[in-house]
Amino acid sequence: MPSNESKLTVVGAGLVGSLLSLYLARRGHTVEVLERRPDMRREALDAGRSINLAISTRGLHALRQVGLEEEALKHAIPMRGRVIHPVQGELAYQPYGKDDSQHINSLSRGWLNRFLMTQAEATGRVRIRFRQRVTHADAAAGTLTVQDEATGETREVRDTVVFGTDGSGSAVRQAMQPRPDFQATQETLGHGYKELTIPPGPGGSFQMEKHALHIWPRGSFMLIALPNEDGSFTCTLFLPWQGPVSFDSLKTPQALEDFFQERFPDAKALIPGLVEEFFARPTGHMVTVKCAPWRVGGRTLLLGDAAHAIVPFFGQGMNCGFEDCAVLDGLLESQADWEETFSAFERRRKTNADAIADMAVENFIEMRDSTGDPRFLLEKGVEKV
Ligand code: FAD
Repeated sequence: MPSNESKLTVVGAGLVGSLLSLYLARRGHTVEVLERRPDMRREALDAGRSINLAISTRGLHALRQVGLEEEALKHAIPMRGRVIHPVQGELAYQPYGKDDSQHINSLSRGWLNRFLMTQAEATGRVRIRFRQRVTHADAAAGTLTVQDEATGETREVRDTVVFGTDGSGSAVRQAMQPRPDFQATQETLGHGYKELTIPPGPGGSFQMEKHALHIWPRGSFMLIALPNEDGSFTCTLFLPWQGPVSFDSLKTPQALEDFFQERFPDAKALIPGLVEEFFARPTGHMVTVKCAPWRVGGRTLLLGDAAHAIVPFFGQGMNCGFEDCAVLDGLLESQADWEETFSAFERRRKTNADAIADMAVENFIEMRDSTGDPRFLLEKGVEKV
């Protein structure tokens, strides 16, 4: 087992960094976590990436290992299948498994992140420092340059073992870029996404089937919706950036309303804030990041999206990052030091992470075309990609 004497720094208190620090603390390590954002438990943050997430077996397994699965599932809504919404006509239900026990779960990203931070701090070994942005890293030396976002002051953290869990745009990964043995590819999808809300019905009721992931497959674009605990659904519209039907073509409220009326009439009737939300909310980018090596000696290791960002269509980015934490934890038991641990970790995870990344892109095509049934598409001259 690597020494408990080492100074450990986790960069990023997102989903993966928070869970990782909890795992490390349970092994007796003292951990400092540097997070560039304010504490989301005290300040409301701007709407960012998906409001809710699908958590499935690999993610739940990682939570179970640290005794958190049961509590997380209390806040989750089981989704037992997909409900496919055609342009007109009857909905089609596609169950995920033979019976209801086979399902995925919709869970609030914000709740889960806050929960994991609190659980990590409750170990007494984790200190999360907010508004601390890592601006540079010397991955071989274990040195981090950190800017205090409140005061603008810069300081250095030295002689530390660095865990880079700072997401798809990772500063830790970028600092590894000049190393001669380091390679990274970053592929941006030609689609962006926008979140929209179906509010709860009367008395907090669900206005569509609660226990399902809803999909409106339309060929080159699609809409999906996941249920939230309060009776609402968060919808995500995936559209090409440019082309005949794209973010570029939806520049006015009228164009947007006409588009929804034609392509998603049942959803339009349930999204009263369509125009306001569409034009006020940010449009998200999606990227696949593959890189290698994920480590520098026994000093620096990348995990989660920092090592392997994937597009969301397989619902596996966070799940895969949580699995990283569980695998690393298992290796801590059997490996002698950090270098051996990091090396074994990369051997175990890299091929799997790359495979999941490729499957996620493939599943985009499967989801947006769904059954290939022309009822769903109403292409009207739109190229099917
Ligand atoms: P992040 O969540 O990005 O967290 C990184 C943290 O690091 C953040 O808190 C950030 O503020 C901090 N940080 C960044 N830079 C610095 C810096 N320089 N210094 C200090 N701190 C820094 N996955 C699923 O499993 N299921 C789903 O259903 C799902 N749906 C998704 C839907 C969408 C639309 C998108 C975009 C993604 C989805 N994902 C899903 C993927 C999932 O969101 C990511 O895989 C997951 O958030 C990765 O967690 P992370 O902790 O590695 O990175």
